[in-house]
Amino acid sequence: MKSSKGHVISRVDEGSIAEELNIEVGDKLLKINDQDIEDIFDFQYLVQDDHLDVLIEKADGEQWLLDIDKDFDEDLGIEFENGLMDDYRRCSNNCIFCFIDQMPKGMRDTLYFKDDDSRLSFLQGNYVTLTNMSDADIDRILKYHLSPINVSFQTTNPELRCKMLGNRFAGDALKKVDRLCADGSGIELNGQIVLCKNVNDGAELERSIRDMTKYIPNLQSVSVVPVGLSKYRDGLYPLEPFNKEDAEKVIDMIESWQKKVYDEHGIHFIHASDEWYFLAGRPFPEAERYDGYIQLENGVGMIRLLLDEFEEEYQYILENYPEHLKNYKREISLATGRLVYPVIKELADKAMEVCPLLNVRVYEIINEFFGERITVSGLLTGQDIIKQLKDKELGEKLILPENLLRSGEDYLLDDVKISDIERELNVKVGISKCDGHDLADLLMGVNNE
Ligand code: SF4
Repeated sequence: MKSSKGHVISRVDEGSIAEELNIEVGDKLLKINDQDIEDIFDFQYLVQDDHLDVLIEKADGEQWLLDIDKDFDEDLGIEFENGLMDDYRRCSNNCIFCFIDQMPKGMRDTLYFKDDDSRLSFLQGNYVTLTNMSDADIDRILKYHLSPINVSFQTTNPELRCKMLGNRFAGDALKKVDRLCADGSGIELNGQIVLCKNVNDGAELERSIRDMTKYIPNLQSVSVVPVGLSKYRDGLYPLEPFNKEDAEKVIDMIESWQKKVYDEHGIHFIHASDEWYFLAGRPFPEAERYDGYIQLENGVGMIRLLLDEFEEEYQYILENYPEHLKNYKREISLATGRLVYPVIKELADKAMEVCPLLNVRVYEIINEFFGERITVSGLLTGQDIIKQLKDKELGEKLILPENLLRSGEDYLLDDVKISDIERELNVKVGISKCDGHDLADLLMGVNNE
């Protein structure tokens, strides 16, 4: 938490400069080189020096001025109670597609917080709209060389952007991209478009892609993801779900731009998220097309990566553990969202082909909590899992994907804990990392960690 007198230190790394100087958890950082520290941007910038005067306040109020000589980019080895070292900035938009507006009442307060903070973009990869950034903020990003900055474009048509973001300044905010991408800025950006049917698709999408290519090489990638529509849309802007034909058109447009951009710039740049390929029933692009999986967090290339990693590990296990596979006897179950169910089922069947005594049941969980149109595993709730698996054969263990847990926690979106699921379903629950190596190891009973 930031106090008027400084930033409370919550962690001191073992063997770090801070530990050597007896800086402790609970101490406050007051100044570096006699300068106040507004937030994490300032901190990151100021510590990049080979000589620092660091003013610390100890728990008893005593102040220490520490004279530190270090390598230029060497870290002090401290973290703060508030990772941002400042209050989180709320978004100033009212987007027609906002998922937070489509959540039922009564969930955890933090889930309703609408942030739009460029500092979180840099720290955690959040996507920001740039609507609440001042010119001074852009100056700091340029001065401190903070990148990548992830930008939610939605469209490059200023008027349409105002309409989609429910903010009359949203069109003008695009000019900030020009500054970030000016010659020699050295700032890298990634972009995202949440596609809404009959709003920013078709000719508008084509225009956006064309406009955004002008920002290459600063802008390294742009993902196009379909809008998520929950069942709680009463009173909200009328948005329709995409169908197979729509998905085919989106993929065709994106793939034709990928060819063009690749010929000119050597990157594929614009990416359709996995959901489009599921919806169109088309095979997933080859790994090279994802430019190093730069947009994995947006669901772009996750399935290709999963399939390739699984195959690699599968072949390795086949070659190295033939006896184990013959005798490996287990009965387990997997639960997953509707979207990836066919893929997980296919991989489980593949494992069973080479393990004659293995029995894996894969269950597709329908998202009744948010509505059936929400098909990703990451938005599944504990109550749906419990309700839909209540009388099912689950075997010795039920495996759930890691992405339905809050990061570092053991509870799901609806606060149901893993232990609640275990108790209600009377089964041990295991968590699978969402990668193909782990899934192959888990299914075939090999530990290759
Ligand atoms: S920027 Fe738009 S989508 Fe994001 S939180 Fe704000 S209103 Fe919701």
